[in-house]
Amino acid sequence: MAKKQFKAESKRLLDLMINSIYTHQEIFLREIISNASDAMDKLAYTALTDDKIAIDREQLCITITRAKDGGILTVSDRGIGMTKEEMEENLGTICKSGSLGFKQQMEETADIDIIGQFGVGFYAAFMVASSVTVISKKYGQDKAYKWVSDGADGYTIEEAEREFPGTDVIMTLKKDTEDEKYSRFLEEYEIRSLVKKYSDYIRYPIRMEVSKSRLKEGCPEDKPEYESYMEEDTLNSMVPIWQRNKKDVTEEEYHSFYREKFFDYNKPAKVISFSAEGNVSFKALLYIPSKAPYDYYSKDFKRGLQLYSSGVMIMESCEDLLPEHFSFVRGVVDSQDLSLNISREMLQHDRQLKIIAKGIEKKIKSELAAMLENDREGYEAFYAAFARQLKYGAVAQYGAHKDATQDLLLFYSNKEKKLISLKEYADAMAEGQEKIYYVSGESAERLAKLPQVQTLTAKGYDVLLCTDEVDEFVPQTLMTYAEKSFCNAATEDLGLQSDEEKEQIKQKTEELQSLLTFVKDSLTEEITEVRLSGELGDMPVCMVPAGGMSFEMEKYMKRMNPEFNFPSQRILELNPEHPAVQAMEKAMVGNTEKAKDYAKLLCCQAKLLADLPLEDPAEYTALVCKLMQ
Ligand code: ADP
Repeated sequence: MAKKQFKAESKRLLDLMINSIYTHQEIFLREIISNASDAMDKLAYTALTDDKIAIDREQLCITITRAKDGGILTVSDRGIGMTKEEMEENLGTICKSGSLGFKQQMEETADIDIIGQFGVGFYAAFMVASSVTVISKKYGQDKAYKWVSDGADGYTIEEAEREFPGTDVIMTLKKDTEDEKYSRFLEEYEIRSLVKKYSDYIRYPIRMEVSKSRLKEGCPEDKPEYESYMEEDTLNSMVPIWQRNKKDVTEEEYHSFYREKFFDYNKPAKVISFSAEGNVSFKALLYIPSKAPYDYYSKDFKRGLQLYSSGVMIMESCEDLLPEHFSFVRGVVDSQDLSLNISREMLQHDRQLKIIAKGIEKKIKSELAAMLENDREGYEAFYAAFARQLKYGAVAQYGAHKDATQDLLLFYSNKEKKLISLKEYADAMAEGQEKIYYVSGESAERLAKLPQVQTLTAKGYDVLLCTDEVDEFVPQTLMTYAEKSFCNAATEDLGLQSDEEKEQIKQKTEELQSLLTFVKDSLTEEITEVRLSGELGDMPVCMVPAGGMSFEMEKYMKRMNPEFNFPSQRILELNPEHPAVQAMEKAMVGNTEKAKDYAKLLCCQAKLLADLPLEDPAEYTALVCKLMQ
């Protein structure tokens, strides 16, 4: 029979595993058992949704068989099995689900040591076996198939016999060497301890024939004699990790469950294990990841929690359990109050499910808030990965979820030079400060230099410097926090002037009416309005948008939709106290040519300050040079 080759990347990984002196060999058993368990989950799940399949749950078990003489270890299951095509596809390719993260990291680091951290799946068998045979019969099919490979150069597939649907993974262990005793994987003690260590929570019994001893029949009481016999024993406790008492579960157990279940090889930022009693009882084990999955912000990402009913998985990822703003959370929820064969459509409207979802949302919120309070560094690391999701959450549906999200947001404080929460901002507001000030743009350094920010800083007011694209939508949606309204310092009235000062500006405006008209007429292409401002501090000019949309928002809209053609209307503000403005006024009398140049120059300055592009930098340069001569 002609041998088929493994796909290229599979082969590379195989070589690496087979040829490395590898200390985590023992994980092969965990991987094979976990596949067996998944296969039975799949069968049980299919049976839930398909009336034609009737399974006897009692029969769902994993059997480990040892043939010491031949050095063969077999793991059998009564799972869904594989067709011939599935064997080709699944056992001939390594870049499947769980192995993907591994493969990526492998390419980045080429570090052999990382294998131990990863679920490399079925291939792990080749770390201990010189040859692996898989015999499988798919549920509902007549034929079984046998897949055989010695790892190095491909595999063969042929028809085979198997009574029941399910799969046997038959591993011929490598010969012992001086350094490695592969035969230990046939010892009862070794297998027992590996199952306890890695696979205890597997929900199906893992059975193995073990030797026991008993009193020999008929032997006299004063001379007891013992004989040994073989008997099947269940090696795992089968209690799912979320059903166990929190204090009996080690951090490592929680982490390894996370790793295997959700294929994230980074330690989670937080593990939340909790239960609720009452109208609806449930247990939940939730994880807050520390890094966003690569596809997190794409539409491929699947949000949801795994849903179990009394230990039986009824849904792989139940979206309705997790609000959008916490979609990064992973985990399992188990409730005996949910019916086993409830349909997906029914589930959506299920009242109990809604109660569970509410409880989960509340818990996640309070845990994140506690983390923000007690573990700032950890929180900020988490925030770096998921800030955007929380902000989307705050603005979604016109702020419908702001109560759940607003206290979890952080913004960069101009005063503190670090991230702060809105509560921290509000608590530290200066005497007499009425508003929460923010500005948005690409870089915090540049924002800090905006004239309005300087003015506020001089008064001792903090300004939130927003540099994320969605930031600006947050205050616009929240509108107020702790009864203080938000104020975009770059576009709105800062509200700093007294009535008296306002009156002064009004008077000045009347006095300088001809200057204002002159400037406006000189800059018809650039601006729609010109006015005086008493809030510019040391700066001569400032550009502000008229109407609701800030320049940043305009840029954002353009990026989102290049067709967007809605230029914001620009207002040029002049500082009547500034010498440059006064010089322009002087020049207006007698040298209008020069005054016009001044107006153009000041307009350019205002654009630069507002971080707006100059359409014609050459003209600007020419102007400056002309005035210098
Ligand atoms: P992973 O389990 O991460 O997907 P593996 O390499 O362990 O990767 O397995 C690849 C695929 O082979 C599985 O996804 C599954 O479809 C199939 N498979 C492996 N073992 C079994 C089994 N015992 N029964 C049925 N299918 C299996």
